[in-house]
Order: sequence, then C-alpha cells, then structure tokens
Amino acid sequence: MTAQLIDGKAIAADIRQQIAQRVEQRRQQGLRAPGLAVILVGSDPASQVYVAHKRKDCEEVGFVSHAYDLDADTRQDDLLALIDSLNDDPSIDGILVQLPLPEHLDSSLLLERIRPDKDVDGFHPYNIGRLAQRMPLLRPCTPKGIMALLHSTGVDLYGLHAVVVGASNIVGRPMAMELLLGGCTVTVTHRFTRDLASHVGQADIVVVAAGKPGLVKGEWIKEGAIVIDVGINRQADGKLIGDVVYETALPRAGWITPVPGGVGPMTRACLLENTLHAAEHLHD
Ligand code: NAD
Repeated sequence: MTAQLIDGKAIAADIRQQIAQRVEQRRQQGLRAPGLAVILVGSDPASQVYVAHKRKDCEEVGFVSHAYDLDADTRQDDLLALIDSLNDDPSIDGILVQLPLPEHLDSSLLLERIRPDKDVDGFHPYNIGRLAQRMPLLRPCTPKGIMALLHSTGVDLYGLHAVVVGASNIVGRPMAMELLLGGCTVTVTHRFTRDLASHVGQADIVVVAAGKPGLVKGEWIKEGAIVIDVGINRQADGKLIGDVVYETALPRAGWITPVPGGVGPMTRACLLENTLHAAEHLHD
C-alpha cells in the first residue's frame, strides 16, 4: 500500500482562484479591494521569504498589499503606534505582524493590540477564545488550512482519534481545538510527553508540528492513518524536510501531506480567506 498524497499546493491554488473571482465581482459592484498590511521587523531570511510570498499572493488575488519593513531596532512604542493607525484605517482589513520578532519586542502585547476584527492571523486572545467556545470568527491560518486538507480526503472525521504533536500557540493548541470542533477525540503531545511513539501509533489522524526533522518515524504510523506534516526544516543542502520521516511513512499512511507543497500553501491561502472574510463580513 502507498499513501494518497494530499496536494496542498493544488487545493490552495483553487482557493486563490475563488478569492480572485470574488474580488473581481466586488470590483464590478463598486466595492473596494480588501487590504492587508504586513509588518516585518528586521531581516530574518526565512521571515523575508514568507512575507514576500504573502505579498505576492495578495497581488495575485487583487488585494491591496501594504508593506511595512522596519529596522530590527524599531521601538515597541513606534510599533504600537503603527498598529493603532492601521486599526483606525478603513482601507485595511487585515494586519499581520510576521513572527518571530526581535527579542526586545513583546509579541503578546503587540498581537493583542491588533483589533480582533483585523487579526487575520487569528492569534488574538479574542479569536482563540471564540474558537475555544465553538464560535470561531477569524481562525488561525495553519490549523484552518489543515482542516480543509483533512476534509479534502472525504474521510468522515467524527469520532476519529487525532494526535497532535506540538502544543504551540500558533499551531498545536488551536489545531487541537479545530479537531475537537470537527468531532475528533484529541490527544495533544509535547516535549514532555512520555513515549510519543505509543501515542502516534493510536492515531487515525496525526498532525505533527514540532520543528524537529524526522521526529516521527514511519514505523510509528498506524496503517491507513492520515498524516499531516506541518514541520518546515531546512537541511544543510538547502532542501526542506518535514517532522515526519516521509519515505517510511508513505507505505503505511492512508493519506499524507508532502513537505513542501502540503500545509505551507494552505496557511497562505487561509490568510487570504480570513482577509476577504474580514472585509465582507466585519468591515463592509
Ligand atoms: P514551536 O517551537 O513554537 O513549538 C514546537 C512544539 O513542539 C512545542 O509545543 C514543543 O513542546 C513540541 N515538541 C518539541 N519537541 C518535541 C518532541 N520531541 N516530542 C513532542 N513534542 C515536541 O513551533 P511552531 O511554531 O508550532 O512550529 C512547528 C513547526 O511547524 C516548525 O517547523 C515551523 O517551521 C512549522 N510551521 C509551519 C507552518 C506552515 O504553514 N507549514 C506554519 C507554522 C509553523
């Protein structure tokens, strides 16, 4: 047996095309194009690549992209003032602060300053709280994109055992809440978990977001399970690999996401979806 590939790149391209059509309809109706402000502080190379992709996506679907590239030593007060002015600007539907931020900046404080209806990353405690209480508004992009990938398999998720590896604020924790909302029985594992292999071995769905290349071995995977690999790890030769040993997981899994081309494109597509949603349902 070999797993079916979940083609995040193709699914994300479909989403972008639908969004572009909707933006064009809006234009014909005399409505403005959605606006996304992307703030990058410093010159972390990976962040620069992510931000460039996000800005290119905006152009492709017809959004207005507002770029704020700030020096690494930008003061927190100046950043707060910029967020305040974007909060008050009616042409801006979404505000994104690219993480990680330089150490002298308090990311929790800054993210909480973004108005919840413009928090298109879905990281504000208001939006996380709404997800926890089963009434999501703007949903964190990576878990939201993963739910779309899971639904694309056509598998009924109700009652399945989902194991999440990693418990970060941006992936693991909101992922667990999305899976719970989707009717799964959820186990969350993290760096202090004992015997990770036995947990993964029980999973009908395994979502791995630890940032540890090859952490999850193919032999651990239950036959036929859905394997979602969120990890992005750059090897010395420049190649990107995930947190799952792909070659040995492939013959055991029922479905699997590749790295790259799985979760990454969906995260970006969901950012566009959230921005359009904010424009149409929270701001128009
Ligand atoms: P993080 O470092 O904030 O969190 C990692 C989590 O993994 C922690 O909860 C930690 O306890 C857990 N962990 C570490 N070692 C473990 C172990 N041995 N066993 C079990 N759990 C362990 O990372 P993050 O921001 O959640 O990102 C995780 C990975 O996902 C990174 O590779 C990141 O680049 C990638 N990522 C990808 C996307 C995407 O769109 N594809 C989006 C966000 C993050």
